[in-house]
Amino acid sequence: MPERASATGPTIAVVGGGPAGLAAAAALARAGCSIALLDARPFPAPGEASPDEARTVALLGPALELLDRLGVGAEVAAESAPLRALRLVSLPSDEAEPEADVTFEAAEIGLAEFGRNVRIGRLRAASIAALRRAGAELFGEAPLETVLRERDGLLLVHGRGSLRAPMVVAADGRRSVVRRSLRIAAEERASGRTAIATSFSHARPHRGVSIELHRPGGAFTMVPLPGDRSSLVWIEPDASAKRLMRLPDAAFRDEVERRVRRWLGEVGEVGPREAWPLVPMVARRLVAPRAALLGEAAHALSPVGAQGLNTSLRDVAVLAELVGRARARGEPPWSPDLLLAYERARLPDIRARLAVTEGLAAAVASDLPPVRLARTLGLRLLGALPALKQRVMHGLIRPMALPLPLPLP
Ligand SMILES: Cc1cc2nc3c(=O)[nH]c(=O)nc-3n(C[C@H](O)[C@H](O)[C@H](O)COP(=O)(O)OP(=O)(O)OC[C@H]3O[C@@H](n4cnc5c(N)ncnc54)[C@H](O)[C@@H]3O)c2cc1C
Repeated sequence: MPERASATGPTIAVVGGGPAGLAAAAALARAGCSIALLDARPFPAPGEASPDEARTVALLGPALELLDRLGVGAEVAAESAPLRALRLVSLPSDEAEPEADVTFEAAEIGLAEFGRNVRIGRLRAASIAALRRAGAELFGEAPLETVLRERDGLLLVHGRGSLRAPMVVAADGRRSVVRRSLRIAAEERASGRTAIATSFSHARPHRGVSIELHRPGGAFTMVPLPGDRSSLVWIEPDASAKRLMRLPDAAFRDEVERRVRRWLGEVGEVGPREAWPLVPMVARRLVAPRAALLGEAAHALSPVGAQGLNTSLRDVAVLAELVGRARARGEPPWSPDLLLAYERARLPDIRARLAVTEGLAAAVASDLPPVRLARTLGLRLLGALPALKQRVMHGLIRPMALPLPLPLP
């Protein structure tokens, strides 16, 4: 049986209980809607820890502001680490001397930190608890099978029955059944690279500095965790990633240490590994009648630049803001004008981020001499021109900043 609560405003069915869907459900509940949230996975019982991925995500200031407004910021921050600086290093090979080495300090643009590295499991547990407090209906272990159109709304058929709702928000990940049921096409291109995500302990303190090594094959990024521990996102060509994933723990640890030692000292224990084939994707449309797409149901970006979930939380903030304004005017959240305004506000930003992260990921991984030279010179130029450097830092954060520059529906 789903967990029930009394309805207030119009019901929105949110499909997908990943970080984007949970944030969307919580934000739409705050905007005055009743929420029915479906996930293929079970929801942990109240008080039970989320048995989620050990994976972490770097969330920038504006994304953290949104989590604060949703009432989960403090809980998520409890097991997170501040990101005070970002160090970019261009290496011709794993062992070679750096060709360029530039550190961006948050203090240079008047901030104490760019954001925080948070655990996805913690974010999920805190968001589910907030939704329960908000009285959302949670349908766990209810994989959506299809969405059918009816005269006055939608019928969502799932593994445990069906559900009627006047509107659906798709947050069911990159293979979104909602997106496919609504016949929204997506453009995707396999990059030929895979990200290995793990975490490790190290001898020297990271001092809140995230280090991104630009080396042939792909970026090797160490992001601070609490204590002398960092998370690692290591991008390699698919075949090489497969080989690394098959290594016994001790041999994999040695491979990590060989690359980490000169930056963070000796490596202790290495956590579980997960492999993520990188296939950048963007949906052609973000809306259909009575439906909106967000998170990885709408776009999947390379981890280079830590934009993925930050971009998804921006989708959430924009949609919830539009719905809140419509509710204040007594209009339904599924009006065609509102949905179009959402798409117009988000699609150009998503496309721009996809292009930038794809270009960056390719440039970082390349060992073609002209590309490497451009990458190295670009970094050196940033290091030498403080004004340009500051603009880049603002650019990292500002497009997400609130209040939102929204077109009114
Ligand atoms: C290695 C790596 C590092 C990253 N680092 C960062 C970072 O530092 N910063 C950042 O901002 N982003 C980062 N990202 C991106 C970020 O992790 C993702 O954007 C985010 O986790 C995706 O969240 P989501 O909720 O959109 O999708 P998902 O997490 O995929 O959630 C989808 C949900 O939908 C459910 N679902 C699927 N199908 C159905 C169905 N048919 N019916 C019902 N439910 C269904 C699933 O059970 C799941 O709960 C990284 C990604 C990778 C791979």
